[in-house]
Amino acid sequence: MRAKVGYQTTLRERATVSGLGVHSAAPAQIVIQPADADSGIVFLRTGLPGGRERLLEARRSNVTQTSLCTVLGDATGASVGTVEHLLAALSGLQIDNAFVEIDGPETPIMDGSAAAFVDAIDQAGVVHQSRPRRYLKVLKPVRVEHNDAYAEFSPADHSFRLDVEIDFPSSVIGRQRRVFNVDPATFRREIARARTFGFVSDVQKLWQAGFALGSSLENSVAIDGEEILNPEGLRYSDEFVRHKALDAIGDLSLAGAPIVGRYRAYRPGHKLNAMALEALFKNRSAYAFVEAGAKPLFPALGGVRAPAVARGLRAGIGLT
Ligand SMILES: [Zn+2]
Repeated sequence: MRAKVGYQTTLRERATVSGLGVHSAAPAQIVIQPADADSGIVFLRTGLPGGRERLLEARRSNVTQTSLCTVLGDATGASVGTVEHLLAALSGLQIDNAFVEIDGPETPIMDGSAAAFVDAIDQAGVVHQSRPRRYLKVLKPVRVEHNDAYAEFSPADHSFRLDVEIDFPSSVIGRQRRVFNVDPATFRREIARARTFGFVSDVQKLWQAGFALGSSLENSVAIDGEEILNPEGLRYSDEFVRHKALDAIGDLSLAGAPIVGRYRAYRPGHKLNAMALEALFKNRSAYAFVEAGAKPLFPALGGVRAPAVARGLRAGIGLT
């Protein structure tokens, strides 16, 4: 790949990943395909009743659920669940544009991390496109709280600085904190292989609620009391907080543009990440979209959602 820093990217060719959903246990195949500049990440959900298909843009306004995983959906009931690890791989590797065809209700969980998606993208290759990348630059602190968890965006000069802290009563996890300057090298090395995790004590409850039906030691780190049940153990001593960082990268990619700023999250989950993004977009003076190497294009427009701004940008509206 020729270095063209600041230009949008897509895949060189298509990449395919198949597997089972961790919550639904349903099989699905995803085919990640190249997409034009300014497309963003767009899912095509196929295999719906009657052979229907629905397009679902990976953006925050299409988020329909954030309990246990992030679900994208629309008013017709079409949905794609557990998008966060795939979105984290695309965002972590700085892929701006991709078309993701999926024939089932849930993104395959694979080994519970983003590794399979990173491998598939690496195999397909990445190409730069002729359009500059657009970033979402945080201009002012924005904070949200939820129970005893909180998250805060604040300005940072040139990077996406991710600061995640977790605190679990289980001594296997305890208190863990990591700070990353998220770029593709850091993502691959420090974050992509961190697996999702769960407590055996929660499993019955989750099953009854229709969640975690596909979970196993093949795709989750399972904690039973003070013990990790996976015979292979952990991939990193603090794999848990790294996985929370992975989830945050996926969830925050629903902003629709890579973030330049700091995100500090204490005890985050998908809901907190979604709440933080909502709060940021509600505070119109707290962010701006900027083009790589350029001054801010415009302050965030009042009442106009970011994707609408992006569409306006594509159509050349309001920028002449
Ligand atoms: Zn996760």
